[in-house]
Amino acid sequence: MNMQRKFDIAIVGGGLVGASLALALAEFELSIALVDRQAFTADKTPFRNSPGHFDPRVSAITPQSKRFLESIAAWDGIAAQRLCPYQHMEVWDGEGTGSIRFSAGEIQQSALGYIIENSVILAALYQAIAQHRNIELLAPWELASIASKEGGVSVLASDGSVLECSLVVAADGANSKLRELAGFETREWDYGHNAIVTTVKTGLPHQATAWQRFMPTGPLAFLPLDGGTKEGGSVGQQHCSIVWSVIPQRAEALMALDDEAFRLALGKAFEYRLGDIEWTDRRFQFPLRQRHAQSYFRDGVVLVGDAAHTIHPLAGQGVNLGLLDARALASEIGRGLEAGRSLNDERILERYQRDRKGHNMSMMWLMEGFKHLFAEQAPPVTWLRNLGLSTVDNFSLLKNQLAKQAMGID
Ligand SMILES: Cc1cc2nc3c(=O)[nH]c(=O)nc-3n(C[C@H](O)[C@H](O)[C@H](O)COP(=O)(O)OP(=O)(O)OC[C@H]3O[C@@H](n4cnc5c(N)ncnc54)[C@H](O)[C@@H]3O)c2cc1C
Repeated sequence: MNMQRKFDIAIVGGGLVGASLALALAEFELSIALVDRQAFTADKTPFRNSPGHFDPRVSAITPQSKRFLESIAAWDGIAAQRLCPYQHMEVWDGEGTGSIRFSAGEIQQSALGYIIENSVILAALYQAIAQHRNIELLAPWELASIASKEGGVSVLASDGSVLECSLVVAADGANSKLRELAGFETREWDYGHNAIVTTVKTGLPHQATAWQRFMPTGPLAFLPLDGGTKEGGSVGQQHCSIVWSVIPQRAEALMALDDEAFRLALGKAFEYRLGDIEWTDRRFQFPLRQRHAQSYFRDGVVLVGDAAHTIHPLAGQGVNLGLLDARALASEIGRGLEAGRSLNDERILERYQRDRKGHNMSMMWLMEGFKHLFAEQAPPVTWLRNLGLSTVDNFSLLKNQLAKQAMGID
């Protein structure tokens, strides 16, 4: 194939962030190409009809992200499948006595957030995209090279086809090839952690609570899964998605265990808060790397989501930051169009960068700080940490303010 097509905007990467951005832009009179190396299959929810089986990749979606997903007409499609609203969050120090518990009721909210399988969110996004004639899906489509020229960018696929666009968005994830081809510089370092993710069944119900134990070796999270198909429903409540971040050698050892030995190790690491671990699904492992692009745009290419920043999953913020990028970029493009500007006008992209870069960076530093704080085993630090957690827990004004910030409520 050797085809040349013209679009106003090409979004490379149709994951959670790229697909959301396409929807947010759809209201403008723009022709949008959404391309991905993976085929967009009709059914992205292979787990939907199998109770007790869940997508190993899930996201903790904040109320702020929920509002954005509502605004792009994707939330109803999610709620019609399955999600688990969580009302509480319990965080404790594995090396001491400090703990903190957040509750939605204390800040007059119905939920602190929602644990949703990534495939459920994607299915809803693509259902919504199908309603828009100005979004064209091209997949499987593999990025090969790009060439910037006066007034736009040519994007070449490995099959020889070319997309001519005014603006190209890199939404192709943490190892973004587009970011590399366009010559963006990044600041990056290893967290020295690998994350093991899987689904587990626990002896006791999860109580609509997101649980996190901090250990010197890394955090272990249990995220509630089966809260019912609709908001507020409750079915089963014994399945959780776990994210266990540990140093790579320990991760290899845990991955090598048979299911029974893994269940025992997991139960012990989680201090049996939800009883014994009765069952675990297949395990997956992800190396964790922190990465932040030094600039979010150059030569008609703009970065969003994990292509711009990758962050430790300990606070479940990665997708949420990416959705805020999508919302901000669409809003700045809308404002620029109203002012009669071209899509690659640097004033639009500069405003987007100003809106998002500082916020993303502060979240990354916070995660880095948490990691170091809980890795420290010296007695004065553990004492202060325990005191700090318990003090915040007893000081409801500060605690509620922290919860509101994490949820994106002003
Ligand atoms: C273990 C773990 C747990 C996590 N838990 C949470 C959580 O609870 N909450 C949260 O908010 N975040 C979480 N995250 C982070 C979250 O998964 C990411 O932030 C999010 O997936 C980023 O979305 P994205 O659309 O930017 O990138 P991706 O989801 O990586 O999507 C990129 C897309 O680009 C496509 N692509 C890639 N290369 C090319 C190419 N060359 N050509 C064409 N297409 C291409 C891919 O096929 C893919 O569809 C977690 C991450 C990890 C590792």
